Parts: sequence; C-alpha cells; structure tokens
Amino acid sequence: MEDSYKHRGMRRSLLKILRGKGITNEAVLAAIGKVPRHFFFDNALLEHAYQDKAFPIGEGQTISQPYTVAFQSEKLNVKEGCKVLEIGTGSGYQACVLLEMGANVYTIEYNKVLYERTRKFLPLMGYRPRFFQGDGSKGLPRHAPFDRIIVTAGAPSVPDSLIKQLNIGGILIIPVGDNERQKMLRITRIDEKKLKKEEFDFFSFVPLKGEEGWGR
Ligand code: SAM
Repeated sequence: MEDSYKHRGMRRSLLKILRGKGITNEAVLAAIGKVPRHFFFDNALLEHAYQDKAFPIGEGQTISQPYTVAFQSEKLNVKEGCKVLEIGTGSGYQACVLLEMGANVYTIEYNKVLYERTRKFLPLMGYRPRFFQGDGSKGLPRHAPFDRIIVTAGAPSVPDSLIKQLNIGGILIIPVGDNERQKMLRITRIDEKKLKKEEFDFFSFVPLKGEEGWGR
C-alpha cells in the first residue's frame, strides 16, 4: 500500500470539492486530507477512490460518500478526546476520519463478514478503534455513556437506546426516513430531561438493521 504524491494531490482536489459543497470545519478537512481513501479500494478501482461518491464494499453495503462523511463529522462537533460511538463500521473509513480528529472511537458493525474484514484491515494502516460486532441500533450499553454517537445507516426513527446512552452535552447524528431518503437529524442532550433536535438536508443511506432499526 503506497500513499504517493499523486494520491495526496487527489486528496487535495477532494478537499476543494468538499469546501465547494459547504464543509468549513478545518479539523474535519484536515482528517479527510490524511486518511488514504484509496487503501479501501481494489487496484482496479483506484480511480474511484477520490471521487465524491459512495462505492460498493461487498455484502450489499457501501463506503459512504466523502461529502456525507464530512457533513456528519462536522455536525458531530468532535473534540480531541471525545468518546464516540459509530454505528455501522462498514469499510472503517469514517472511523479513521474520527480517529484522525483525536476521538476515542468505539465502532459496531452488524454484518459479521465486514466486521472481521475491517477489524483486521484498519490496524494494518495504524488505525485502532475499538471494534464490536452486533446490533448497534441498541447502542453499546456496556460502554455507555458516549459524548458523541454517529449512525451511518438510515433509521426509521431515533432509537430510544441511543438517546439514553448520550452524555449530558452529548450529540447524536442520525439519518431518519424511509428506504429512499433520510433527513439528517442532530439531537443534543442539554440535561437529564431536555433534548434539542435539529434537522438538516436529506441523504440516502443503506438501512439500519436490528431491533430499533428496520429489523433483520
Ligand atoms: N461508516 C461506514 C464507512 O465509513 O464505510 C459506512 C457504513 S455503510 C453506509 C452502513 C453500515 O451499517 C453497513 O456496513 C451495515 O452493515 C451497517 N449496519 C446496518 N445496520 C446495523 C446495525 N443495526 N448495527 C450495526 N451496523 C449496522
């Protein structure tokens, strides 16, 4: 695996595209500028690595579009040392971006094949989040609470379990809608009882499976 001058140039071009689409958070842009996205692609598909598109990763799942990763990361307002739960490890790309931002990342994947693949692959690049396999629609109760929770699959509604696992001041970012498109929601826990809810644009994610998602 080689990260050449050419690849770094392609990442700089991607950053320009993301800025053009409205991403302004410099920590997010710096992190995306560091993660070698082409390592997640087969040699034959390298030309796709720095396009602003989602791409199939097998098992009917996708590596998210860079803009989506940037948008969710920006709205998550990640600070150095934040304890972050990611639901939907997938390729592991989003987890790498969060690690580059200094987060302490817990990531859970439902699909056993993807879980095994990514758990072995990320450390080869020097990225070491804590990996879990299971139904992330219920969060990760034994490691809660979290400062931030990011859901990278489309949910039918906001799972109660995720709200319960948010620290005071904590932020949950989650796409909610039907199979076609989902509205990005941000829920901030103000105190024990009070939540603030904000709505952003529509996106298109693969479905969140599991008990508090769309089921199996
Ligand atoms: N974050 C990923 C990345 O950077 O490549 C992209 C994730 S992909 C769009 C969505 C992932 O969510 C898929 O890998 C899917 O298997 C996973 N998923 C769906 N339902 C889940 C659940 N209940 N718990 C954990 N993972 C889930």
